[in-house]
Amino acid sequence: MNEFSKKEIIDILNDESQNEWLFALADKIRKENVGDEVHLRGLIEFSNICKCQCKYCGLRSPNKNLDRYRILPDEIILYAKKAVDMGYKTIVLQSGEDEFYTKDTMCNIINKIKEMDVALTLSIGEKSYEEYKAFKDVGADRYLIRIETTDKNLYKKMHPNMDFDNRLRCLKDLKKLGYEVGTGCLVGLPEQTVESLADDILFFKEINADMVGIGPFISHPDTPLKDAKNGNFTLALKVMALTRILLKNINIPATTAMETLNPNGRIIALQSGANVVMPNVTSTEYRAKYEIYPNKICINENPSQCRGCIEGKIKSIGRSISKDYGFRKK
Ligand code: SAH
Repeated sequence: MNEFSKKEIIDILNDESQNEWLFALADKIRKENVGDEVHLRGLIEFSNICKCQCKYCGLRSPNKNLDRYRILPDEIILYAKKAVDMGYKTIVLQSGEDEFYTKDTMCNIINKIKEMDVALTLSIGEKSYEEYKAFKDVGADRYLIRIETTDKNLYKKMHPNMDFDNRLRCLKDLKKLGYEVGTGCLVGLPEQTVESLADDILFFKEINADMVGIGPFISHPDTPLKDAKNGNFTLALKVMALTRILLKNINIPATTAMETLNPNGRIIALQSGANVVMPNVTSTEYRAKYEIYPNKICINENPSQCRGCIEGKIKSIGRSISKDYGFRKK
């Protein structure tokens, strides 16, 4: 049961009358397979410097209107320590593709954070097998790298100087090295079809992703997609719900981009299949500058405000905050 074909997925995505049933089914499957606990991951966005030119992303290197920053290793470690003291059981390190952080620099940071009794996730883009292996050897547990879209033509248009096959290679290397692997897609990119979204969902299943992050595309004024329409919140939610139905026991975040398009977006996502939230644990000075898209939420809050706010919301819907590391349930 619940093994939808591509055609069935497309039909569900196209049929608005199915929404309530779909969200309720995803919520039920979430409850049966991963329970009512929500895993909080403390997110450190440590550099907004990026060599890539992804058409949708505000961090893209040609964007001259962004005030760039780089948090140095000692300060990253300090933020991690504060987050662990606040109760976070996972730290996520995310950045643009910034070559300042060499293999050795990253290994040092990972080493120090892993002394803190915490799970560690990296989200730092495309690296070589040797680099992924070095990070794993010093203790990194998980890696997030979205495929963004499985439509090869669209991928090519959206990612100048990048290669779809290399993205796949990264996912394959990470699996082979024993990471828990996260991927995901953007929903609502210009020219993206519902058929290709169905392929995205089936791709997550095919590679047996351990985590899947789905977010609506949000148009950024300082990118080539400045005149493009934002993605649709409900469609992104449907892609997420279908992912839960197909991959029952994985971890699925209620993404920040969802909340940017809908003031209650993360809570709605938690009630439609999601079981993870990733609050920001860096200070206010950096948050606004990590502007992958505009109107990011919580940019004026500090880490303890963020934690308090999301904890309150989670409890208000009868869910609890997990006290364990939150690996994929067996
Ligand atoms: N450099 C890392 C992290 C990228 S930022 C990497 O390559 O994996 C994390 C995610 O933000 C991206 O994977 C992308 O899916 C999302 N993102 C970027 N720009 C966006 C936009 N305009 N709207 C919505 N999500 C966006």
